[in-house]
Amino acid sequence: MGILEVKDVNKRFGGLQALGNVNLSVAENTCHAIIGPNGAGKSTLLNCLVGKLIPDTGSVMFDGQSVLGRTPFEINQMGISRVFQTPEIFGDLTVMENMLIPCFARRDGSFALHGIRSVFSEGELRDQAEQMLEEVNMLDKRNMHSASMSRGDKRRLEMAMCLVQNPKLLLLDEPTAGMARADTNNTIDLLKEIKEKRNITIAIIEHDMHVVFSLAERITVLAQGTPLVEDTPENIKGHPKVKEAYLGE
Ligand code: ADP
Ligand code: MG
Repeated sequence: MGILEVKDVNKRFGGLQALGNVNLSVAENTCHAIIGPNGAGKSTLLNCLVGKLIPDTGSVMFDGQSVLGRTPFEINQMGISRVFQTPEIFGDLTVMENMLIPCFARRDGSFALHGIRSVFSEGELRDQAEQMLEEVNMLDKRNMHSASMSRGDKRRLEMAMCLVQNPKLLLLDEPTAGMARADTNNTIDLLKEIKEKRNITIAIIEHDMHVVFSLAERITVLAQGTPLVEDTPENIKGHPKVKEAYLGE
């Protein structure tokens, strides 16, 4: 039984079957990659795990509990954090200010009652945020305006914002998309480090096979909304069905 169990999930958008009978089991403390051609349904699947979309049928269990019917915030509180396909940070805020938002949300559930200014003056949360920034080698950038950073640094900050919540499952949707090779390699190293240091399960959607083969212990290949194969990286390489799925891409 994996920490994440997806069973017979279907999702339609009008006439389009984006997900058809998807089954996926992600074992605890592993890195599991989901690959597949554009439009295969990878992001849709991720959206069904975090409550952004509700499957038409099927079940999604995390850590023994159903996520279906829960809000994205509730699912986040259960221990799932997600990095989006495009970085979602507040460009007008500094690195440190961005970090304080998840710290505060984690502790108090919501900062609506307190107002954002009071969040920024809390010493204990600052300590948490600083420790996390140190862990991802960004402490020296804490007063930088977030919008002015490189794509790689924005991603790193976004990952730190997820990790400071101590998730049990980290979901990454194409974390290296649009990155220069050096930033991609830094991201691989960072994820390896995180994986070694923490009890964390990672599910990653990724197009860059160098990233997939550097990190994943299991790979699920999705094509036209349905899992084609699930296997180890060694067996996925050169798999005829996988080659077929990517033809014409
Ligand atoms: P991937 O992430 O694998 O590239 P997506 O999950 O984004 O694929 O999309 C799967 C299919 O569902 C695509 O054909 C896409 O156009 C369609 N799709 C995704 N989201 C929506 C939506 N909100 N409304 C209608 N169609 C959608
Ligand atoms: Mg996608």
